[in-house]
Order: sequence, then structure tokens, then C-alpha cells
Amino acid sequence: MKNVNIIVPQYHSSYCIDDCAYCGFKNSNKNIPRHRLSDDDFKKEIQILLSWGYRAIEFVYSSDRYFGTDVIAKRIEYVKELGLKSKIEIRIGLNTEPLDFDDYKTLKSSGLDFVVLWMETYSRDLFKYWHGTITPKSNYTYRYEAYGRAIEAGINNYGMGVLFGLNYWKDEVVALINHADYLYQKYNYKPYIIGIPRIKQAHSVILNGQLKPMSDSEFSEACNMYKKSFPETMLFFNTRESFELNVKCCSNNDLITIDCGTYPRAFLEPNLVKNVNEQFQTHYYEREDTIKKLKQNNIIPNFDW
Ligand code: SF4
Repeated sequence: MKNVNIIVPQYHSSYCIDDCAYCGFKNSNKNIPRHRLSDDDFKKEIQILLSWGYRAIEFVYSSDRYFGTDVIAKRIEYVKELGLKSKIEIRIGLNTEPLDFDDYKTLKSSGLDFVVLWMETYSRDLFKYWHGTITPKSNYTYRYEAYGRAIEAGINNYGMGVLFGLNYWKDEVVALINHADYLYQKYNYKPYIIGIPRIKQAHSVILNGQLKPMSDSEFSEACNMYKKSFPETMLFFNTRESFELNVKCCSNNDLITIDCGTYPRAFLEPNLVKNVNEQFQTHYYEREDTIKKLKQNNIIPNFDW
């Protein structure tokens, strides 16, 4: 018998000034409709997620200048106050572009519980290849050093990850472990979360020959390598993968996503997925059925962790 901790991503924008070659939201992709989650829709979605039992929400942002730190901080404060009024503890995590020390400080003060930032690839050359040279995201060093800025600003719960498929997976796993070890030596905090996203097809995106595909057994081996290095860190399983693979690879107290639409308004308009709004394609997990299947596999879903 093991537990898994349940988390739900909420997408706030699909406008993006960056141009990551593999992403449906990339600026040069003119074939997808763009959306921002308005304040009203944001509040409606939060109510829906709480009514479904969720207590940990990951705010997901693209690089959209409309969502400056103050706007994000207000949304975190809103949820935190709602939790206080309703006497429920709600955790908020943030998945956004790397930020300055002052931004992390502001977000910490607003009640942010943890931050996740995927390095995408640790290879400087491939980082340039996949992200170009003139976008904000092309600044490898600024991204690499963001974890230290977040910790120095008081966000000790940090999540790291690479996007499997951009480079040979074993090089990436070793590089991430080294990076995490460096942060641990310097700050005495181990990673709270390790993300394990594997690249998936996005609408109107041609994934080119530079891809380094990763098999299911290699994915499973990568999970084991991370777990051996950081046994207490939560691996973040997600709907990019099949339910069966996630169940096979997850360990006690890892994180898992059940409901996920990779676009803004996903919980208000689940059928938008048919109209190419997604950042990338995911598997569909039906909530009640997935909870039942987890229990049948001797896994207890923990919404309130
Ligand atoms: S991966 Fe993120 S930063 Fe890059 S294009 Fe997509 S949404 Fe923008």
C-alpha cells in the first residue's frame, strides 16, 4: 500500500513571448487560439477545483507580460484568504518563467508554498537550439540560477526538472542530480519536487530530428535514478503519461495529476481540447474512475497532504 499526493494544474495564459521549438504556445505558432484566464473565470475555476476536493493547485503561466508578479501575487492571496475563510488549507505552487529575487520575495509574502521550474535541458548548446538566442528564455544562466534566488527569497520548497526528449536522458538526469546536490550543499535544502515531463506532440508543431526519444523503460529507469539520489523528494507524475505507466513508476508520497487540460479555462470548458487550445497533448483521466483505479492498485490518493 502506498500514498500519492494529488495536485491539479491550472493554466492562466496561452499567450507567450517565448518561442520554444517544441511548444504549442510558442509565439510563432499562429494556428492556435490564445486565451487568458480572467479574474472571474479564475475564481470560478478555483471554486470548481475545491468542490472536487483539490487542496493543492499549481498555477501555470507562459511568458505573458500581462501576468506580472503583482497580478500573480493577488491570485495567490485570493486563494489563501478563501482557504482561511473556509477553514481549509490550500497549497499553491507556481510554474512560471524564472524571476528576480524581489519577485520571489513578493510571491513568498503573498503565501506561495512552492515553486517549480523546469530547466528543460542542461546542455547549453541544445538549450540554445531549442529556445533560440533572442527570446527571454534563451538566457540559460538566468534560468539556472533562479533556484538559488528563490531559496534566498525564502521559497525553500523548490522543484526542478528537465523535459525528456530534448537531449540524451541519462546526461540530463545526472546533470539535474548534480545541480540539486550543488543547491543542497549551498543552501541545505533538497529539491521538494522533481518534474519528469516527457515531450509530447503539440498542435501545429513539427518535432524535428534533433529529438532524443525516451522509451518507457528508460523513463522508469530515470525515475529510479532520481529516487535513489533523493528518496524524500516527490516525483511529479502527470497526464503526459498513461495511467498504467504512472502507477508502475510512482513511489510512496509522490505527486500525481488526475485532472489536467493544458490550456486556460480547461475546467470551465473541457471540450475546448477539441479545438486545438492545448499546450501539448495529454491522456484523459476520468477523475472518479482514476481514484477507483488507484485504490484497486493499492494506492491511496491523498488530496490533503
Ligand atoms: S514552453 Fe513555456 S515559455 Fe516556451 S513557448 Fe511554451 S509556454 Fe512559452
